[in-house]
Amino acid sequence: MKIFGDEWKGTPAGEDGEWVEAPVGAECVDCLKPVVEGQSGVILALLDVTREPGKEYTMEPKEQPYHRECFLESVFGPNFRGFITKGPE
Ligand SMILES: [Zn+2]
Repeated sequence: MKIFGDEWKGTPAGEDGEWVEAPVGAECVDCLKPVVEGQSGVILALLDVTREPGKEYTMEPKEQPYHRECFLESVFGPNFRGFITKGPE
């Protein structure tokens, strides 16, 4: 997984992830707001589906950014902050 931003430092994702430059200006897949300088997030290769009437649809992997919060919420649900700050029992 490709990651960007300081918020990953000191986390398991920060140790295992591939660090890349923040894709400033690119739209987050989840909230559709652009990534701003200083934000953290991930870049995933998601399938980009193109479908035109009368033709077969095509699916190509396309790298797309998520804000860190948007990605974590997509994995853990809207109460993800509780999982992270609480830690293992
Ligand atoms: Zn977002």
